[in-house]
Amino acid sequence: MITMALPNKGRLSEPTLRLLADAGLDFEASNRVLSVKVHNADLELMFVRADDIPELVKDRVAQVGITGIDLLEEYGDGLPRLLNLGYGHCRLTAAVPQNSPMATLPDLKGKRIATTHPTTTGRFFERKNIGIKVVYLKGSVELAPKIGVADAIVDLVSTGSTLRLNGLRSIGTVLESQAVLVAEPGSVDHSTVEQVSTALGAVLAGRSKRYIRLNAPTEAVGLLSDLLPGLEAPTIVPLVEDGWVAIHSVVEATELWGLLPQLKTAGGKGILVSPIEMLVS
Ligand code: AMP
Repeated sequence: MITMALPNKGRLSEPTLRLLADAGLDFEASNRVLSVKVHNADLELMFVRADDIPELVKDRVAQVGITGIDLLEEYGDGLPRLLNLGYGHCRLTAAVPQNSPMATLPDLKGKRIATTHPTTTGRFFERKNIGIKVVYLKGSVELAPKIGVADAIVDLVSTGSTLRLNGLRSIGTVLESQAVLVAEPGSVDHSTVEQVSTALGAVLAGRSKRYIRLNAPTEAVGLLSDLLPGLEAPTIVPLVEDGWVAIHSVVEATELWGLLPQLKTAGGKGILVSPIEMLVS
């Protein structure tokens, strides 16, 4: 039996549960239980704080987990990352008060930097050979310059509106983060871990693509095939009506809006677009 550690609350919790459900794992999530058994896999889900997950996986309390890259960098000691999960995007950003003359990362030399990510911050500036003093705070980092505890901060930012609200200005990125699937090194090749990783990857690949079907006169096939290259090549199926075919293909969701008018102009009729639940290339 494999145990998977998952965030029990916060920004990563809801999209993580949705991803697992979309991958077909059958379980009843409740915010009052610590762990549940997945009915259709040899898998136990354990709900804990996102920042405890790297430690729990390192200690083999759980063999796999989902957490943020920032937390993995801070507490993970090089735990293997199996898959980037495409949500929970944020950056660890260095920021200074709006009216500060500091404009670039080297300007932070000799300064006090407040952060919830002391290890990551210390390591980043050490690699850049910029001597700083880390001030470790557990929260409300953005208040540190105002109350005189630090000259600058390194904090998680997604839109930047919290920084602006607190009179701060970003001067550089320390780390780009998103949710990741991590594993204990000895469990990377375990069959259940591989199955989970493949299924989650298939859901993510499917989310970014659409399945498209259309009818077209045979003479339009060349042009339409060029517009719809698909994974290898489009599927072309003859229709009962002579001189007509159906073309099936897969397209990038983000390219669809630009593609639809071109498909119409090229002779496509009855264009159908459907979501893809899973895609394994
Ligand atoms: P939370 O439990 O909500 O405090 O956040 C846990 C994790 O969510 C963080 O460690 C990040 O990996 C991720 N996250 C995504 N967006 C943000 C954001 N805007 N601010 C803080 N954390 C974020």
